[in-house]
Amino acid sequence: MILAIKSFMKKLMLFLLLINNAIILNAQRSDIKILKIDRKYETSFISDEIQVQSNKNNPFIAFSIALKGESINKNIDAIYYKDMQNEWQLFTTDENNYEHDAWYAMSYLDKGITKTQIKIIFKKPVQLDDVTFNFYFPKDTEYLSKQSQKEDSSVTNVKKTEDCGCSRPETIARNVWCPNNACPPNQNPVATDVKFLIVHHTAGSNTSNDWAAVVRSIWNNHVNMRGWSDIGYNFLLDRNGNIYDARADDTRGAHFSGQNSGTSGMALMGTFSTVVPSTVMLLSLENLLVWKSCDKSIDPLAIAFHASSGLNLHTIAGHRDGGNTECPGDELYDLLPAVRNNVNAQLNSCVLGVNDAILNGFAVYPNPFTEKITIDASQVDAAKLKIQCYDVVGRLVFDKTEVLTNDSLSLNLDFLSSGTYLLKVQGREKVSHIRLIKE
Ligand SMILES: [Zn+2]
Repeated sequence: MILAIKSFMKKLMLFLLLINNAIILNAQRSDIKILKIDRKYETSFISDEIQVQSNKNNPFIAFSIALKGESINKNIDAIYYKDMQNEWQLFTTDENNYEHDAWYAMSYLDKGITKTQIKIIFKKPVQLDDVTFNFYFPKDTEYLSKQSQKEDSSVTNVKKTEDCGCSRPETIARNVWCPNNACPPNQNPVATDVKFLIVHHTAGSNTSNDWAAVVRSIWNNHVNMRGWSDIGYNFLLDRNGNIYDARADDTRGAHFSGQNSGTSGMALMGTFSTVVPSTVMLLSLENLLVWKSCDKSIDPLAIAFHASSGLNLHTIAGHRDGGNTECPGDELYDLLPAVRNNVNAQLNSCVLGVNDAILNGFAVYPNPFTEKITIDASQVDAAKLKIQCYDVVGRLVFDKTEVLTNDSLSLNLDFLSSGTYLLKVQGREKVSHIRLIKE
């Protein structure tokens, strides 16, 4: 009898050890520390040094903070944290700060950091109730994928929707950006009839060598710090043009300043206040918008009444159109009129089979090209054209203004290296973004 119990205990211990190891190997860890403060500060608050426990195989550490206190939202001027060199760095503010008594921010720390500290500068004296710190160790995606028990297909199948002719762009499924079900989805999704497509930026870094880890960090921040049931947005996009499935499609999110019914939220990861998104990222956004417009019978050029906000909104709107925020950044916001036109042209093309270049106003041929292109502007009332060309990472390659002869223009682009470019053609009121391929 005793032997049987001993044997059972041994097996149990071994079992527990195995489970424990499996968890340690696979888990993305989230350390939460809450400081109860309950004090009034006149101009600034500096925390003690906070220890960051080391953890292997991470591309970075996502550091989120939540500040609670009466009317704190209006009274924060800036937040800083200490980096590896012990220098103060500006903490990135969460673009979804709309609660009066709370303030949220998330930045990325170097993976080797062992301690940090925060400093808050107030505009007015503030009663600070508590500060919550969250250190999230997302793990390297490559490492997690190797640890993952089952190999899932890397992308959602591309499927044509039944009701329209525009195909759903490929997206990266949740079990790929977060293996082992470590980032579970919303358990009680609320369906919503999507009529507005809201464009965001995440106000985070524009560069990363592990975007899936960034997506997991956003999940952790939204779920474990904001207390939401899932990522606030329905889709996330990275600068390489990848689209990530976030909150389930056609379910109500948490992204439009508390007025989310009837919307779908699409967020470009990065900050686009002074930088334009990369060409491939912009093209992916347009493909996503084309498919959703087609899928939900949305006219991309229309303005309509949005009941939840009580506002008349563009059907493709920026977050700032419905809330007090910089989102999606000046540069991305300024691109939205052109994005609507491109989406409309592409939608007409896939629904009706109409040539998108002509609907756009300008036709460019040949495309792909090897040496020269011709821009046909016969559908546009203009005497000269302003032409800007961007490479795949959004850098301006050239910017010129040319006079039209016989409604067209020939350009020698032999100097461009092979690849994809975004050509912005502008003649008087008309602007087109054309994807140009140099062979
Ligand atoms: Zn936003």
